[in-house]
Amino acid sequence: MLSVQNTISWLQHGDGILSSPGGVEGIGYIKIPNSDDPDLSVPDIELINIGGSIVSDGGPGGSTAVRRGMRISESIFDEAFGSIDGKETWSTFPMLLHPKSFGYLELKDSNPFNHPRLYGNYLTDPRDVATFVAAIRHVQALTATAPFQRYGARIHPAKYKTCRMHTFDSDEYWECAIRTLTATLHHQIATCRMGPVGDRLAVVDPELRVHGIRRLRVVDSSVLPRTISAHTNAPALAIGLKAADLIKNTWKI
Ligand SMILES: Cc1cc2nc3c(=O)[nH]c(=O)nc-3n(C[C@H](O)[C@H](O)[C@H](O)COP(=O)(O)OP(=O)(O)OC[C@H]3O[C@@H](n4cnc5c(N)ncnc54)[C@H](O)[C@@H]3O)c2cc1C
Repeated sequence: MLSVQNTISWLQHGDGILSSPGGVEGIGYIKIPNSDDPDLSVPDIELINIGGSIVSDGGPGGSTAVRRGMRISESIFDEAFGSIDGKETWSTFPMLLHPKSFGYLELKDSNPFNHPRLYGNYLTDPRDVATFVAAIRHVQALTATAPFQRYGARIHPAKYKTCRMHTFDSDEYWECAIRTLTATLHHQIATCRMGPVGDRLAVVDPELRVHGIRRLRVVDSSVLPRTISAHTNAPALAIGLKAADLIKNTWKI
């Protein structure tokens, strides 16, 4: 990719292969058939389509950055993806937009410089697993469509040792696969959520002021009261901008 041609194309026209946003070429939003949220305008899953996969930086010496970045052990990686290491791939990451499983954090001790303890509790609610399995079925159907078949697209049958007791491609197999290898996209929210005074879990009011404490605001993605059908970086920026206006208004600046 790092050819002179591509570099010139990027520097002169802001175009070409180097203008790709980190390999994410397209996103889509789906509602699963058995969604427990009847509102059709609220998707359950975001499909993140990538012109590559966790084996894309492989080849001689094996995959490095992606495998390690996703903290996948060598043995799991090798047994599941070793056979396609370094091959041309595309991938679709189903991202669970509205997890029903709840995590939490707590202070480790009274030293403010120590990191808190984080408990993700991922996939503890079985509805989250069912939503993922439905998303996998959707991706399988998508792969079978003519536009994908024009390129001979095939789903790689990653077989995990941990899931050998299940028939490949059964719902039980996919549940096992999901529990074997799933990553977070780090969109934690709601640990200081916004809400009215009577809300037991609310920390801040609509102007980001901490209930019951004067002159203290919380300004970050932790104030988002519930999951959003999106990633959290842009909302965090919007919260920051809004907070600047609120603070200026309070102090008549
Ligand atoms: C690996 C990773 C990938 C992500 N990818 C995406 C993505 O592709 N798209 C997307 O939308 N979102 C993404 N996110 C999520 C997004 O980055 C966060 O939701 C967003 O940054 C949250 O903003 P924030 O201001 O709430 O917190 P942060 O960005 O975490 O900011 C908190 C700040 O407080 C500082 N700080 C902490 N303790 C102290 C202290 N004691 N004193 C002073 N300063 C302190 C920290 O250094 C930090 O700068 C990703 C997150 C991670 C971790």
